Order: sequence, then C-alpha cells, then structure tokens
Amino acid sequence: MQYWSVYHARLSFSMNLKLLSPIEIVSTAVAHWQANQDSISIAQIEGFVRQIIGWREYMRGIYWHQMPHFKQLNFFEHQHSLPSFFWTGKTKMNCLKHCIGQSLNRAYAHHIQRLMVIGNFCLLAGIHPDEVDKWYLGIYIDAIEWVEITNTRGMSQYADGGIVGSKPYTASANYIDKMSDYCSSCFYDNKQKTGAKACPFNSLYWHFYERNRSKLQRNPRIGMAYVTLDKMPAQQKKELLQQAEMYLSQLDAL
Ligand SMILES: Cc1cc2nc3c(=O)[nH]c(=O)nc-3n(C[C@H](O)[C@H](O)[C@H](O)COP(=O)(O)OP(=O)(O)OC[C@H]3O[C@@H](n4cnc5c(N)ncnc54)[C@H](O)[C@@H]3O)c2cc1C
Ligand code: SF4
Repeated sequence: MQYWSVYHARLSFSMNLKLLSPIEIVSTAVAHWQANQDSISIAQIEGFVRQIIGWREYMRGIYWHQMPHFKQLNFFEHQHSLPSFFWTGKTKMNCLKHCIGQSLNRAYAHHIQRLMVIGNFCLLAGIHPDEVDKWYLGIYIDAIEWVEITNTRGMSQYADGGIVGSKPYTASANYIDKMSDYCSSCFYDNKQKTGAKACPFNSLYWHFYERNRSKLQRNPRIGMAYVTLDKMPAQQKKELLQQAEMYLSQLDAL
C-alpha cells in the first residue's frame, strides 16, 4: 500500500471532538450526490452515510447500553502482552511494520489496517484486550473511549462474545495478500504455513480456531473453519499447531 489514506474521509477526529456534527457531514454529502448523480452512484453515497449514521451511531448505542461491564469482558480469556514492536514498528512482518509504523507516525490508520491487520494479529496472538484497548486509545487521533472500545474490544477482539458482531474478524495471509501489496516484500512467505519463513498469520489462524473450539464451533457463521480443520491430515495439523505454539512463545521476535 503506497498511500496511507485513499478513499477515506479522515473526518472521525473532527466529528468525535464535536468540531463537525454528523448531520452536517451527511447533509452536505447527500446534497453533493443529488447534484452529481451522473458521476456518483447511490452505492457510493449509501456506503459513506451508512458508516456514519449506521456504524458510528451503533457503536455509541452499544457503549451507553453495555458500559461499564463491557470494559471487563475477555471472552477468549486472552492473556498475552503486546509485543514490543507495537511501540517501534520493528518487526519482520511487513504488514504490521507498515500499519503500526504509520499509526505511530500519523496517529491514523484506515479501518482495514486497524481491523484486519493490527486487530487481527492481536486476536490470533491472544493479546489481553486491556492491552489492545490501551494501545488503540493511546495511538489514534480519533480515539475517544465510546468509539474506540466498542470497535477494539467488540468488533476487532470479539472479547464481548458477540455483542457487537456475530463472529470474530479473523484472516490468514491469503486475505492480507489479496487486499494489499504487503506480502510481496515481506521476510515471511504468505503461502507457507510451516517452516522458518512461514507467515505467522497462517498457523496462528488455525491455532485460534482450535484453542477456541468449545466457544466457536456452534456458531453457524464459523462452521466451515472447523470442517476444514477436521479434514486436515493429523500430521499436518500437528505441525501447524506446533508452528503456532513456537510463534506464540516468541512474539517479540516475529
Ligand atoms: C480496532 C478498531 C479501532 C477503531 N477505533 C476508532 C476510534 O478510536 N475512533 C473512531 O472514530 N473510529 C474508530 N474505528 C472505526 C474506523 O476505523 C475509523 O472511524 C476510521 O478509520 C476513521 O477514518 P476516516 O474518517 O477516514 O473514515 P472513513 O472510512 O472515511 O469513514 C467515514 C466515517 O464513518 C465513521 N465510521 C466508519 N466505520 C466506523 C466504525 N466501525 N465505528 C465508528 N465509526 C465508523 C467514522 O466516523 C468515519 O469518519 C476503529 C475501528 C477498528 C477496527
Ligand atoms: S507474509 Fe504474512 S506477515 Fe508478511 S506481509 Fe504477508 S500477511 Fe503480513
């Protein structure tokens, strides 16, 4: 990803600080669409408006409905500490190096970087949600607790056990490779699951599902992951889980 912000409004900070009101932004955007319907599709304007009056307001509702107990939730009982590279960006994982580095430098990352790269890693690596919350709250320019904790502990870490979302957002290297150009210049090989150069996301992904089987297997939106896991030859599964254990024992060195 050559650019740190492409089709992003970068309006969250102004809205969260009440410098701009959501209705002001939505009304202006809709008026602009009405005057330019030949060049702006309804799907484009709908997506933008939905993020603001949909997701943003939904998160606000969850916060006021679920706090303060929301702050204590740790559905997966994750206990790991954040690796030290969260404070330096110095990691061999190119996707995290870029997303964390950009977050530290600009106090901004777009939604997919927050959710599917950094948050995804924290979830698969079993980082304690308190640590994840504190990091996001401290790093991002738009981080105000009501909209940060609902996204971090809820949407990204599924530490609420399904209050915000119906399933955890997880991905292996395949997804990151499809959505970015990080993998082509990474120390790790996005196609490998085991071995010295295997991308950590691949084995950590399966380890996450295996260790949380009792909590997730009955979720109808996840069943396929367990079908795939259960079809895996025993030796392959053993090596995959061992690879993940090795990575989990040395998160700082990844
Ligand atoms: C783990 C994680 C932590 C996040 N922490 C914050 C945070 O502290 N503060 C914050 O404002 N947003 C947070 N978000 C939501 C979203 O990533 C940011 O609002 C967005 O990246 C801000 O950039 P933008 O203004 O360019 O957004 P655009 O992509 O241009 O979207 C337009 C607007 O829609 C709203 N929006 C879109 N998605 C969400 C969402 N899931 N929740 C709330 N509003 C949304 C924002 O107000 C945003 O400005 C977080 C998301 C994740 C996955
Ligand atoms: S190979 Fe893995 S660690 Fe490297 S950039 Fe791709 S997903 Fe990230």
